[in-house]
Parts: sequence; C-alpha cells; structure tokens
Amino acid sequence: METAQDLKMNVYKFGNKTADGNSKLRNLLGGKGANLAEMSWLGIPVPAGFTITTEVCTQYNQYGQEETIAMIKPEVEEAIKNIEEIMGSTFGDKDNPLLISVRSGARVSMPGMMDTVLNLGLNDEVVLGLAAKTNNERFAWDSYRRFIQMYGGVVLGMKPESKDDIDPFEEIMEHLKDKRHIELDTEFTVQDLQDLVYDFKDAVKKRTGHDFPTDPWDQLWGAVIAVFNSWNGDRAVYYRKMHNYPADWGTAVNVQAMVYGNMGENSGTGVCFTRDAGTGENVFNGEYLIDAQGEDVVAGVRTPLQITKLGSERWAELAKVDEEERVANYPSLEEKMPEIFKELDGYQDKLEKHYRDMQDMEFTIQEGKLWILQTRNGKRTGAAMVKIAIDLLKSKMISEKEALLMLEPNKLDELLHPVFDTGALKRAHVIAQGLPASPGAATGQLVFFADEANKYKNSILCRIETSPEDLEGMNIAKGILTARGGMTSHAAVVARGMGKCCVSGAGALKINYKGRSLRVGDKVYHEGDWISLNGSTGNIIEGKVATVEPELSGEFAEIMELADKYSKMKVRTNADSPKDALVAKNFGAQGIGLTRTEHMFFEVDRIRAMREMILAETVKGRKHALEELLPMQRKDFEGIFEAMAGLPVTIRLLDPPLHEFVPHQLATQKDLAEDMHISLQAVKNKVADLSEFNPMLGHRGCRLGNTYPEITEMQTRAIIEAALNLKERGIEAKPEIMIPLVGTYAEFLEQEKIIRGTAQDVFDERNDSIEFMVGTMMEIPRATLIADKIAERADFFSFGTNDLTQMTYGYSRDDAGKFLPIYLDKGILTSDPFEILDQEGVGQLVEIGTERGRKTKPNLKVGICGEHGGEPNSVEFCYNTDLDYVSCSPFRVPIARLSAAQAQIKAS
Ligand code: ADP
Ligand code: MG
Ligand code: MG
Repeated sequence: METAQDLKMNVYKFGNKTADGNSKLRNLLGGKGANLAEMSWLGIPVPAGFTITTEVCTQYNQYGQEETIAMIKPEVEEAIKNIEEIMGSTFGDKDNPLLISVRSGARVSMPGMMDTVLNLGLNDEVVLGLAAKTNNERFAWDSYRRFIQMYGGVVLGMKPESKDDIDPFEEIMEHLKDKRHIELDTEFTVQDLQDLVYDFKDAVKKRTGHDFPTDPWDQLWGAVIAVFNSWNGDRAVYYRKMHNYPADWGTAVNVQAMVYGNMGENSGTGVCFTRDAGTGENVFNGEYLIDAQGEDVVAGVRTPLQITKLGSERWAELAKVDEEERVANYPSLEEKMPEIFKELDGYQDKLEKHYRDMQDMEFTIQEGKLWILQTRNGKRTGAAMVKIAIDLLKSKMISEKEALLMLEPNKLDELLHPVFDTGALKRAHVIAQGLPASPGAATGQLVFFADEANKYKNSILCRIETSPEDLEGMNIAKGILTARGGMTSHAAVVARGMGKCCVSGAGALKINYKGRSLRVGDKVYHEGDWISLNGSTGNIIEGKVATVEPELSGEFAEIMELADKYSKMKVRTNADSPKDALVAKNFGAQGIGLTRTEHMFFEVDRIRAMREMILAETVKGRKHALEELLPMQRKDFEGIFEAMAGLPVTIRLLDPPLHEFVPHQLATQKDLAEDMHISLQAVKNKVADLSEFNPMLGHRGCRLGNTYPEITEMQTRAIIEAALNLKERGIEAKPEIMIPLVGTYAEFLEQEKIIRGTAQDVFDERNDSIEFMVGTMMEIPRATLIADKIAERADFFSFGTNDLTQMTYGYSRDDAGKFLPIYLDKGILTSDPFEILDQEGVGQLVEIGTERGRKTKPNLKVGICGEHGGEPNSVEFCYNTDLDYVSCSPFRVPIARLSAAQAQIKAS
C-alpha cells in the first residue's frame, strides 16, 4: 500500500496563517507560490489559495491536457473547497460566489513574461449575485468586463492583429469613451460596463467562432492550461534564452481567492519596493491607484500615486506640480490612508528582514483592509545591486560572504559604462521631462516599434507604454522612453532588471505610431532623429550628448576589495597596449595574461618593415628588416612593463599566419614592390605563395618561429632589452615569454633554446640580467595530453581556450556563424562554446593538462587566457581546476574578480 510519503503532491495549499509549502520549495512551487506560502506562515494577510507545481507543467508538456487534468483534478477540487471554507463563499455559486485569480509563477521571476487571469468564476448569473452580495453593481460589472478582457487575451488569443493595432478590447473601450466624452475607466457607468461586457463577448464570438465559456470549472481549466502554455510562449522563451534558463523548469500555477481593489474610494492596488531599485537608496517607495485592480498601476492606465509622502514630493517636483495641487489630486498613501500605510510599512520591514534582501511587493486594499499578493527579491540595476549589498552588510543583516554571493557578476558591467559629461548636459536642450525610471545615459535614434530596435546601431525605443512583447527590442535598444506609466510600470521594472536607461511616464509626448513620430508641443521628431535620455533625472534631450568614463563609486571599490579578500585565484588582463593595461590595472588586474605582439605590427609605420621581413628571400634580408622592427617592439614592451610595474606580463610570440600581413590590393602591392626595388610579379608570387587552404591550421604559431628563428630572436631581444632598460630606471619588469601553438615537445624545445640563448646574449652584452620565464600556450589538444613532458622545460602554461575550443570541436570560429545559431536554436548545443567554456569536453583537456603538468612540476604556474577568462561560469570552473589565474579583457576584470571570490566561497 502507498504511504502518504509515496503520494507525490501536485497541489500545495496556503492561507489562514498556514501552508503546505514554504519558501524553500521555490523550484517546485515557483517563486510566487513559495513566497505566498511563506507569507502565510509569517502571518501576513494573503488571500487563501493553492499552487499547482512546476512538475505538473513539465508533465503537461509531455503528456498533454487530458491526462494532466485527470491527474490533478481531485487535488484541485479539494483545494478549491479549502478556499471556499476559509472565504465563506462558493465557487460558481449564484448568491455567494467565490472568484479566483489564476497566476503563473516560475522558479525565477520573469516579470510580465507569463499570463494572469483575474476575477475568474463570473458569468451572466454570477455577476448578478456578486452585485447583490456586495451591494455594488458597478464593482460587479467592472470585474466582469475585466475578466472577459483578461481571459479573452490570455486564454482565447484575443490579441492585437498587427503591431500598430491596439488591443481589441481596448479599442472597444476607447470607442465608448469617445462616444461618452469621458477619459478614465473609473468614469464608466454601470450601463457602460454592461455594454462593454456585451460587446466584448460579441467580439470574442466573432473572432474565435465560439461563445465565451460560462461554466466556472471550464474557465478554471482553460486558464490553468493557458498558464502552462505561456511557459512556451515567445516572450518566455526569449527571456529564458537571454538568461540561460533551461526549458524544463516549467512554471507553477497559483490559484487564489480574489480580493478587490476596485470596490470604490476605500479600495485600491499598488506595487512597492523596500529600497530604490534604481539607485539602491534605502527608502521605501512605490505606487498605487485608488479604485483599481491588478496591473492597472503597471500598465499605466492612470497616473499612479506615490506610496510615501517623500516619494510624492519628489514626484511633484519633477512633474512641476505645486504642493496644494499635490495634496488635493496626488496624495500619497501615507497621507490618504495612514493606517493602511503603517500596516504596509510594517510588512515591508518584516519581509525585507526575513528574506534579507530588497523586496518587490504587490498589495491590494479592499474596503479598508490590506492584502499582500506577492513578494520577491526585487530586480535592480547594477549600481543598486552593489549599494544594497554593501548597505545590508553594514547593517549586519548579511555576512560578507552573503554580500558577495548575492551579486550577479555580469551586472557589474553596467557600472563601467560611460555617463553624460556634466558640461555637455548644461548646454543640452531638454525637450520634455519624464520619470527617472532606470538610471544611465543613452543617446540614439528614435524607433517606435520593438521589432525595429535593430534598425540603427544605437536606438531609443519610444512607446506609449511597453508590454512583455517588447522585451527583445528593449534589450537591443540603448534606452527606453515611454509616455505612460510610472516608476513601477512594465518598462521601468524591466529596464532596471536589464540595467538599461529608461525614462517613463513623459506625459508631454504625443506618440503617433502610424506616422512614426513624436510630438512635444509643436515640435515633431521622426523615426531616426537623435535624442538622448538621462535616466537619473528623467530629462529627454534633443540630439546627442557627449559622454565620459564613469567614476567608480565607493561601494563598488568596497565590493571589489571584499572579493579579493575571499579569492586566492588571481585575475589578469589581456592587453596589447599600455593604455589597455592601465585601464585594467585600475579595475584591479594583477598582471597581464596575454599580450599579442602581432597587433603592434599592424600600425602604419611598422607594417612596411614587417612586409619587408616577410618578402625577404634570404636570412640576411630578413634580419635586416627585423633590425628595423626591433626598436619599435622594444619601445612597446617598455610601455607595457612600465604600466604594469612589478606585475607579471605574459608576452606571446608572433602567432598569426604571415598571409595576414601582406597586401592584397594591387595598388599597395605596387607600392611595396617599388619600396623594395623588386618586381610587382615577385610581390604577387609571394602573396600567392603564402595563401593557405586552412590558415588557422597552417603556417602560424611556433611554426613561424621554428621556420624563421630570426623572428623569435628579435622578439626575445626586444623583451629582454626592454626589461633591462626599465631596471636601469628602477622599475621592475617580470616578463613571461609565451610560445604559441605548441603541439609537440620538440617544437617547444627548439623555441626555448633560442629564447634562453638570446636572453643570455643580451645579458652578456649588457653585463646585467633579470628574471624571466619561458612557457607555452596550451591550445592544441595534443599538447594537453603530453603536458607532463612539456612541463619538464616549461615554467608556465596558459590555456588558450579560443583555439583549444576551435580544435577540440573542429569548428572554425570564423565559419561557425553558419551553423552555431541553428545548433543553439535546435538545442544541439546548449550554449556557444566560444562564449561559455565547454566544461564537459574542452574542460577535460584543461584538467588533464593541468594535472599532468603539475605531476612533473608541482609548482607549475597555470592560467587561462581567451574570452572565457571573464565569464562567470568558466571562472568558477578555473577555480575548481586549481588554476593560478584567469586573464580577460580589461572591462571584464571586475566581473572575473567577483566570480573568483564567489567560486571560492561556494567551494568552501
Ligand atoms: P505578474 O507575475 O505578471 O506580476 P501576477 O500573477 O502577480 O502577475 O498578477 C497580476 C496582477 O494581478 C498583480 O497586480 C496582482 O497583484 C494581481 N492579482 C493577482 N491575484 C490577485 C488576487 N487574488 N486578488 C487581487 N489581485 C490579484
Ligand atoms: Mg502579468
Ligand atoms: Mg506579480
């Protein structure tokens, strides 16, 4: 016989200060469901309900509708009964009806990504019962029209037919508003609402061919299945891809007793944050609307009001509303309903302390009673993320390790982007003012449709309001501008999550989608016109505004210091110039992991000497050209050594195929021939000679140094002489000379001999010496397998994971564009191996190479260079493989430092 434990629960109830689940069951109940259960336990007033698990969603995707419903039906019926008992009303009852909401909720929050239906359980008879029971006809019919609208959109597919169309139900409402000469949805009379219900149902019938479902249970199952389906909707799929969330997580479904914010002056609904999600400032803030329901605040149907008096005053200042008018027309909740505000303030404090993180909450007030409908860790900008972590740490709410772990490394990138130049801002022409919804500086060309955001390199997406459909375009655009919606609108919340500059609710903008234009007063701006947004002030500016590099805030520096305290793995940078090296050093780089010398040869004054060297027919001729290059290289190295004084600098010897350096155009070939006093034909022959079928597998890397040892000699000489020159000036240089593309032991030995020999020559000439290392790049699979042998002579290894990935997969990186995107789409690959290190395959080679190398030489220095060095997952892998350092591009150094600390904390 089955015991209670064998019986897997598909449905978890909550309400009345108790629950089947709690916040630890986030994966099973989704974030929303788990937190509703947790709030129940905490004694916070949440309407009773239940959660259908994410596992049911996964099963639904496998087995389909009928089997799934059959499987969970008994549990759902029992759970509905439980709500009925708590609420004292009955689902589908004509006299005393229970209405419910059906809400989605994945394990991570995907704001607005999936669908919700409110007021479910209404039909032509129940609405009359509801009106009689509440003695509020207007409310009953308003709820009914909302229900048809939401159910129609979410379950029956009543969406706009083309992109410049508005929602079919909105259209009907606008029509009626025009006819009745009213502006707000609160001005509809009972008769209007009844007409709307009739017209809505009619529109549904016309478009879908079916009557609107009247049976509450049919409605319920329809909504549950629609929520499951929304997990595979375009928006959710795109969001998952953007964040690398797997498709098999599924979404939970939350079914909950309705509470009504649309019962009149004494009711309302709102959204609030325990701290400022844009700046991280520790101020309670949010927005609400009187006599409103659900997403009214977020969708910006009316100008939302501020929760706190302080917020209201700040808002009035921006909106240029004077104090008298503010108090009369835009009162804060704190002023309008002080008792409710006090209760809400208590809950926000309790919840933040309980979750020990900034919370984003939803609430509804029904006839003077407060209900909390959701809490979650709030989305925030990179700057807010850092400030909140430091503030929570200082208030002792969290430990140092927790502060580091709550940060998302990739979001640090936002802190490194340019900001507007203050001088340029003073001269700027501000055309309108909106709300500072998400900080940042954006300059770009106007577009009015999300799917056209990629029309320009830098675009500003301008919408009346945004919706979840716009996500992809919002991600591409440099900035987001909306005419409607407040600080908690969809645009604002999503932009802050993306760390993207956003100005919302700029009421002065008159947007014309059909004409693709925007009017402010009598000035009109068209698609393609340049504008700038200041996300910190809400200013909308005509034209472009100059930017400057940001100053790193105090909190940012504190976080970085903290990260270094917990990480033993070093972070170096890939830099080819003193300028890049200095940038990276300011970001905390502890050395250079890769300097590519070839970049130095492409500069105009050098390419000629380089070509001469390549075209030389004799060793003597080649040496002559190399002598010209020597002082230039030496100077480059001096600059880099100086920038990184005292820190190790890994220099890679010449690597690319020579073909890349010779001229391919007739005119340049002629010039070169003249310069070198040889025939044009000779130049042409040489160019043809150098061309290869597979240059990436051709004459490159140490194969160059091994066929033209003079090149290695010259480069070594330049490095050693530069280091000695610095020594004379009292600056310590620590060169690590790296031989590229080694596949066999002998290849390494040959080069090593030349390097050490040349260095000795220089030491003898100068009668002085320095310490240096000779090592190799590990980028050919074969080298990793014979690493024990190579380590007999090599002082260090650096995994060049770009080439290593290329050769392990057999994918040419330059040609992968033809099939990689398709592979990713089809799920043949789960991620791009050139972006995220393939731990399963390429990672094994890194492990093998490190292990075998260290077997021969226990203190062998091992690092990684290549794009992966700044990617958080790959950094974690490197830490776990016991590498000494990762090396990445300068702007990723902070990300790598934080990732390294996180890896170490997680491992301990
Ligand atoms: P999202 O995940 O997009 O935020 P939600 O499921 O939270 O969607 O719901 C959308 C809106 O409906 C929110 O404003 C929420 O507070 C409101 N809502 C959901 N369930 C209820 C309910 N039972 N009573 C009143 N309002 C509700
Ligand atoms: Mg929603
Ligand atoms: Mg919500």
